[in-house]
Amino acid sequence: MNSTRSLSGQSALVTGADSGIGKGVALALAQAGARVVINYAHNKDAAEVTVNEITAAGGEAFAFQADVSHEAEVQAMFAEMFNRYGTIDILVNNAGLQKDSKFVDMTLDQWNTVINVNLTGQFLCSREAAREFVRKGVVEGRSRAAGKIICMSSVHEVIPWAGHVNYAASKGGISMFMKSIAQELAPHKIRVVGIGPGAIQTPINKAAWDTPEALEKLLSLIPYNRIGKPEDIGKLAAWLASDDADYITGTTIFMDGGMTLYPGFADNG
Ligand code: NAD
Repeated sequence: MNSTRSLSGQSALVTGADSGIGKGVALALAQAGARVVINYAHNKDAAEVTVNEITAAGGEAFAFQADVSHEAEVQAMFAEMFNRYGTIDILVNNAGLQKDSKFVDMTLDQWNTVINVNLTGQFLCSREAAREFVRKGVVEGRSRAAGKIICMSSVHEVIPWAGHVNYAASKGGISMFMKSIAQELAPHKIRVVGIGPGAIQTPINKAAWDTPEALEKLLSLIPYNRIGKPEDIGKLAAWLASDDADYITGTTIFMDGGMTLYPGFADNG
């Protein structure tokens, strides 16, 4: 367990926490002392593995199935969280997916699925969390903020991505969504922050790292010359949710080994 326990006494909800980055974030928040709701879309067994890892380490968690793009399912999830934990202090909007296609072949279904999960899902969950943060206000001794919202974005909120237009549009949307609610909610002592991961080794981008040739091509885009791990993002999320980051709101922290540094210009372009 983390010796600082910076999130002790706080309750967190992480969407898409049965896999990849969301799992890494859930484990890090629990290690810092938070109770964590492990949201998942389909894979109950994987969600239970995350819960068991947390409880085996002395933490507290439960799994809840909800499609973040469905309003009623999101509201049912928050109702169950409030029933069990009383309130929410930290929301991590992490759930996301890709439906890749050449632009001219992209179907409306591919477009809508990605926008609905990646962007509308963040709207639905953030609205429920913000309503509760506004209602409860700052709780003395728990955190300097009434609540914290972390929006999982991507380097593709700034790097265009051919063949992935729906995904890049969803992440660009998250950037302005995050900044706009940060501006609106700051007077309520609510912080809203984005995380922009570069290439993190998870199932979503397996094809980009699971052969030596693919990994070499990927590393040519990463000046720091290594792929990221879910625990890299987990540590950042735990810090951003803590009072050590109390003066940070309305910005995206990129954690990408330098992927946003235009690596093609490293040798004079
Ligand atoms: P992943 O495929 O391992 O995890 C995605 C998670 O989202 C899963 O837990 C899944 O259950 C959940 N999910 C999907 N649809 C859902 C829905 N409708 N409702 C609820 N949950 C749903 O991928 P990951 O790499 O861990 O991705 C997590 C987030 O990080 C995504 O938002 C992704 O865009 C972002 N991201 C990942 C990388 C990377 O390199 N891996 C880079 C930048 C951003």
